[in-house]
Amino acid sequence: MFIGVKELERHKLTLREEFVPGTIDFRTRDFRQVAPLSVDLEAELEGAEIHIVGRLATRVELTCARCLEPVEREMAPRFDLVYRPVAAISREERFDFRSPSRATVEGEIGPTPEDLGVGFYVDDGLFLADVVAEQVHLALPMKVVCREDCRGLCPGCGVNLNRERCRCRAPAVDPRLAPLAEWAARKKKPE
Ligand SMILES: [Zn+2]
Ligand SMILES: [Zn+2]
Repeated sequence: MFIGVKELERHKLTLREEFVPGTIDFRTRDFRQVAPLSVDLEAELEGAEIHIVGRLATRVELTCARCLEPVEREMAPRFDLVYRPVAAISREERFDFRSPSRATVEGEIGPTPEDLGVGFYVDDGLFLADVVAEQVHLALPMKVVCREDCRGLCPGCGVNLNRERCRCRAPAVDPRLAPLAEWAARKKKPE
């Protein structure tokens, strides 16, 4: 779905859409959409700027920062956005989600601090899917844990300490058999 300036010149747009997982390309493997994403928004033209107000809701699967297991999170961000027309920026710059002050136009001054929250559109409008993808990126938590007391991975042996016991410590040896164990260890290790 396209939010076109031509149409906005005639009337403001009220949109309600649902995107099933896989329809939006989020350009990352850091998370995965795991439930339908619904979006409700109103778009109108203010001068040459497109003003979009709305909200979306979905569920994403992220990775626990400690144990690396998948974690699902609901998200329902609201947004209030202004997109300014920009004559020529590359698609790459425009959709670099990692830099919030995206779209530094060649030969122009980049966005000033007041511009944060301001996006840019090229040509004659915006794709709804791009607006949505960007808002999902911005709403992602910086870090998630599967549970508050997640014990993470052992830095030594790498086991998931929520499920398994650490294997770093050598098994206890009967002191009477210690010389034998030592001999066996020496034998295994080529000198
Ligand atoms: Zn965890
Ligand atoms: Zn360990």
